Amino acid sequence: MSDTGFFAEGALVSVLTTEPVGRPFDYRAPPGGCLAGAFVEVPLGPRRVLGVVWGPGQGDFDAARIRPVTRVLDAAPMPETMRAFLMRAADYTLTPMPAMLRLATRAPGLADPPGPRRVFRRGRAEPGRMTEARARVLDLLDEYAGAALTLGELAGLAGVSTGVVKGLVGQGAVAEEEAPRDLPYPRLDPDLPGKPLAPDQAAAAETLRAGLSDGRYGTTLLKGVTGSGKTEVYLEAVAQCLRARRQAVVLLPEIALSAEFLNRVEDRFGARPGEWHSGVTQTERRRLWRMAGEGGVELVVGARSALFLPFRDLGLIVVDEEHDTSYKQEDGVLYNARDMAVLRASLADAQVVLASATPCLETWANAEAGKYARIDLTSRFGSAELPELAAIDMRTETLEANRWIGPSLAGAVRDRIGQGEQALLFLNRRGYAPVTVCRACGHQIGCEHCDARMVEHRFQKRLVCHQCGETKPMPAACPACGAEGRLAPVGPGVERLAEEVAERFPGARVAVLSSDLFGSARALKEKIGEIASGGADIIIGTQLVAKGHNFPLLTLVGVVDADLGLQGSDLRAAERTFQLMRQVSGRAGRAERPGVAMLQTFQPEHPVIRAILSGDEEAFWRAEAAERAAAGMPPYGRLAGIILSSPDIQSVFDTGAELARRDAPLRRVGAQVFGPAPAPVARVRGRHRVRLLVKAAKGVALQPALAEWVGQVRLPSNLRLAIDIDPQSFY
Ligand code: ADP
Ligand code: ZN
Repeated sequence: MSDTGFFAEGALVSVLTTEPVGRPFDYRAPPGGCLAGAFVEVPLGPRRVLGVVWGPGQGDFDAARIRPVTRVLDAAPMPETMRAFLMRAADYTLTPMPAMLRLATRAPGLADPPGPRRVFRRGRAEPGRMTEARARVLDLLDEYAGAALTLGELAGLAGVSTGVVKGLVGQGAVAEEEAPRDLPYPRLDPDLPGKPLAPDQAAAAETLRAGLSDGRYGTTLLKGVTGSGKTEVYLEAVAQCLRARRQAVVLLPEIALSAEFLNRVEDRFGARPGEWHSGVTQTERRRLWRMAGEGGVELVVGARSALFLPFRDLGLIVVDEEHDTSYKQEDGVLYNARDMAVLRASLADAQVVLASATPCLETWANAEAGKYARIDLTSRFGSAELPELAAIDMRTETLEANRWIGPSLAGAVRDRIGQGEQALLFLNRRGYAPVTVCRACGHQIGCEHCDARMVEHRFQKRLVCHQCGETKPMPAACPACGAEGRLAPVGPGVERLAEEVAERFPGARVAVLSSDLFGSARALKEKIGEIASGGADIIIGTQLVAKGHNFPLLTLVGVVDADLGLQGSDLRAAERTFQLMRQVSGRAGRAERPGVAMLQTFQPEHPVIRAILSGDEEAFWRAEAAERAAAGMPPYGRLAGIILSSPDIQSVFDTGAELARRDAPLRRVGAQVFGPAPAPVARVRGRHRVRLLVKAAKGVALQPALAEWVGQVRLPSNLRLAIDIDPQSFY
C-alpha cells in the first residue's frame, strides 16, 4: 500500500466482510485499483458479499487461488478513524468484526448501482373528492416533507394501493418526478439567530463552543433539570461544529422525541437534519448512510445506531438523556451507545456532550474524577419552577380493594382538572394486571416458553409474556385445575388504572400512554401532540412519559407506586428509581404554571425517597457512589455478565460449571467469577439460561482475560454464550 492508501490493480488486499467467517480474507485489487476503506463486493464461495478493504493482504493464502474483488461500490470509502473505531469497539465488547461491520452497514441497497428513480411529492392541486385513503397519502407526504418516497414506500406507509397514489397523480394532488439517487441534504445555516440565551445558558454555550474550536477530543456532562434549556445550549455546540464544516450527530433515546425535536432544529438552522431510526424509509436510510460518508449531511438526529454511520468527519456527538437505558443494546452486539460515543469521539478528535437532568452514576463519577468536564444549568428557563415534591404516606391512607389512587392524590387530581389543568398518573407497568391468578387453586398463569408470568392486556384482549412477546387469549378455565370463571387479575397496570380513573373521575378525558398501545411511532407522536394541546385531562403513563415530552398544561404528577423500583436486587435499583422519579416529577409545571409532584409510598423514610424529596441530588450521588466504591462495584470496579442459554438444561449448567472451574485466566488478572446460577428469568423462548458474573478491579485489562477464559471451553452446538461487558440488566 502506498502512503495514500491506494492499491493498484492486482495488489493483495485484505477484505473484511459482513459474513461470519472469522477474519478478513485476501483478494486482489480490481481493475482501476481501490482505496483502503473502499466498500466492495467480493466473491465468497458461490456468493458475492459486501465487504470493506481493510488494509494490505496478509499473504498467508495460496496466491494462485486468490480471487479479485468483483467491484468497488459507489460509496465513499470508510475513513480510517471509523475502521479504528470498529476495531476498538469490537475489542471492548468482545464482538467479532463481521458483526461490528454489519452494524456499520445497516442500510439496504448499498450495492445498487446509482441512477435516477421516480419519487413522489405533494402537488399543487387538491383532489376532486377526498377519501380516507387519499387523505392518508396526503398526510403522509406532509409528514415526510423533504424526504423522497418511492411509489412502493408511499403506498405501503399510507396503507393504500398504488392505484390510489396514481389517481392522485392524475389529479395533480401528488407530483411525480425523476430524482437523482441520494441527493445531499439541504444545508443548515448555523448563523440564523438562535433564541436569546439566559446568562447561564450563554456561558454554557460558550464553553461548549470553545471545546469545539480546538478540534480535539473532550467529553462534557451538560447537567440541568428538564426545561433548563440543555437543548438550546447544545444546539449552539452543533452550530459551532457546522461552522467548522464538520458533521454532528444528536442521539435521542426515543423516536417519539424527534417530532418536536426536528421542528426545533429546523427553526434554529432553517432546514431539517437527516433522521436515522426504525421509522425511516429504506430509501432514506440508504441516502443518509451514503451522505454521511460523502459529507452530504451535516447533522443527523437518530437512535443509538446512528453512531455507526460512516461519517466522513464527525466533530460532535450529543447524547441526549444520556442516562437512558435504551442506549444499551441488549440483543446481538451488546454495546452502550453512550460509552461507544466517547470511544468514537476520542479516535476522531471530536467532542461529546452528555446531556441529562439525572446522569448515570458512571457519568457523574467521571465528571467528579475530572475525566469529563461538567456544566450545570441550575434554573428552569423563564418562569417555570421546579415542582414542589411531597410524599403521601400510604400507611395512613384508606384504600378500597382494587383501588390504587389514595384519597389525597384523588383530591389533588380533582382540584387540578377542575381548573382546566392536566394531571399525570405515573405507573411503570404496561397492561391491565401483572398477574392472573386462579381463585380456586391459586395457580398463576405463566408463559410456556419462559419462566415469567403472563400479563393481561385488556385492550388487546390477550395475555402477553413481556419476556418473549408470546400472546394467548385469556382462557375461560384455569389451565391447572379446570375451574371456570375463577381467574382474577391481581395488581394494577396502566390499563386497570385507567378503569379506576374512569369510575372516579367521570367526564374527565383520559389518555393512556404506554408503548404497546400504539401501532407506530407516528400514532404515538400524534397522541402526544393532541395531549400537549389540551386534548386530555388525565394522562396515565408508563416510563414512556418520563422522556422529554412537553405538556404545558400539566401541573400535577402523581406517582402511583413510588416503591415499585426499589424492591429489585439490581445494582442500579436505587439509581434508576431516583432518576425516574425526578424525571417524572419534572414533567409538572413546565410552562407558566407551577407544578406539584406527589409520590405514593409505603416507605417515606427510605433513603432514596428521602433524597428525591429533599432535592439534594449531589448528596444522593455521593451516598450511592460511596456504597458502590465500598463494594468494588461499577463505576469503581468492573463487571462482565456471561449468559449461557440452551434448550438443554444439563448442558448449560455443565458448561457454566466448567467455566467456573477453569478460571485461571481470570485469576491472573485478579478477577473473580461468581456462579453459575440460574438467571433471574431462568427460561426465555424455551431456552434455559444460566449466568456467571465476573468482577474485576477498575484498571484491569479484562477483555483479553475473558476471551482467553471462554476460549478454553468447547461449546455444545446448541449452546449460546453472550458476554455482556458493563451489564446494565441482570435478568
Ligand atoms: P431541556 O433540554 O433542558 O429540557 P429545553 O432546551 O428543551 O430544555 O428548554 C425548555 C423550554 O424552554 C423549551 O420550550 C425551550 O424552547 C425554552 N427555552 C429554553 N431556553 C430558552 C431561551 N433562551 N429563550 C427562549 N426559550 C427558551
Ligand atoms: Zn415467554
